[in-house]
Amino acid sequence: MMQIRGAQATEAMLVEVMQHSPSLSALSKLAQTRLVLAESNGSPERVSDLQATLGLLKQRTTSLARYTCGNCGFRARRFYWQCPGCNHWEAYSPRRSEGAVPSGPSM
Ligand SMILES: [Zn+2]
Repeated sequence: MMQIRGAQATEAMLVEVMQHSPSLSALSKLAQTRLVLAESNGSPERVSDLQATLGLLKQRTTSLARYTCGNCGFRARRFYWQCPGCNHWEAYSPRRSEGAVPSGPSM
């Protein structure tokens, strides 16, 4: 019971985090928390649904590209002199970006 209450509080907190500063890590924590809740509520289809979401998120966060092409926006895990997306040379900034796009419109 304590665990469920804790998970519900965590979920509410994470929903708020996602509203103010959405991030993949917050989203994955939210999915994890919802998985705990779904497991304790005994809803197997929700559990498998969330497990699929989590698997995808994990794949996405671990394979999340650190280098972004300045020309086409292609993201790569390693540094390329030539972009695999648009074949542009030296379009990659050697600076690692944490998923944020430095240029472009922001809210
Ligand atoms: Zn490119």
